[in-house]
Amino acid sequence: MELTVVGSVALDTVETPLGKNVEGLGGAATFFSLAAANYVPVHMVACVGQDFPDEHVSLLKSKQINLEGLEVMEGNTFRWAGRYHQDMNNRDTLDTQLNVFEQFHPKLPAAAQQAPFLFLANIHPALQLEVLEQSKATFKGLDTMNLWIESELDQLKKVLAQVDALIINDSEVELLTGERNLMKGARAIEKMGPRTVVIKKGEHGCLLVQGEQIFIVPAFLLEEVVDPTGAGDSFAGGFMGYLAQLGDTSFDSLKKAIVHGTVVASFTCEKFGPDQVAAITEQDIARRFELFKQMTAF
Ligand code: AMP
Repeated sequence: MELTVVGSVALDTVETPLGKNVEGLGGAATFFSLAAANYVPVHMVACVGQDFPDEHVSLLKSKQINLEGLEVMEGNTFRWAGRYHQDMNNRDTLDTQLNVFEQFHPKLPAAAQQAPFLFLANIHPALQLEVLEQSKATFKGLDTMNLWIESELDQLKKVLAQVDALIINDSEVELLTGERNLMKGARAIEKMGPRTVVIKKGEHGCLLVQGEQIFIVPAFLLEEVVDPTGAGDSFAGGFMGYLAQLGDTSFDSLKKAIVHGTVVASFTCEKFGPDQVAAITEQDIARRFELFKQMTAF
């Protein structure tokens, strides 16, 4: 089944202990689409400025991502800059320039409206609401971030009330619910709307909660993490892409989907930017999926 994503496309400047990447391709919708395109046809809805390099468009097209909903607007592309320290689970945002996103109102082309799976990647909740009004999807996933929890909580709660699954970091759970305990946090989020809650714990893996059903997985162990930027979005892309490929969202499928998310996200961490997640094939994912199974079965 087809999958639509709405989110940021960016030029990212990222510093990690292993180097610096200046104005590389980034954005939540970018990492998500490149990951999900390994599973199903993806419709990307986002905006860029006139300064957006053609080579990035070519990369997205090379993965067969449908760019009918990618608007080229007057002005500059969204920019984000961040720095990681030795502990790669935490980063500082150094700069956010909304640029074309200040004027953006997502318009879903007909095929993107009809896609049965929708992911609201990280953008302003007001824009996520505009997308929900246009989409006919039957399974809707959501991501957000501390910025929106702190500054746009009312609108974010309206979005939460309309989605099936929330994918969120452990630190954001506490910010959103006031709960430090992740199970209590998941319960509080379920009351806000989403029936399924996925909590990411960085290098410590993630947790899937749906009512009384609970599933936990570790992260895929990497010897070297070069740049974790976009790992969360790639995780979401693997998760939603796999579900859309199956056309099934039973708890059993959700369990396998978070392993796919985990595996795909691990590739993203191996290089700066989305190069690695763009380069992988279904076979690479299948191999690492099997390895992960061996590492976790007992
Ligand atoms: P992740 O590492 O998965 O949390 O996502 C990193 C991506 O999020 C980067 O490529 C950024 O361009 C993008 N990003 C950072 N801040 C924002 C924001 N305020 N709105 C939308 N996207 C953002």
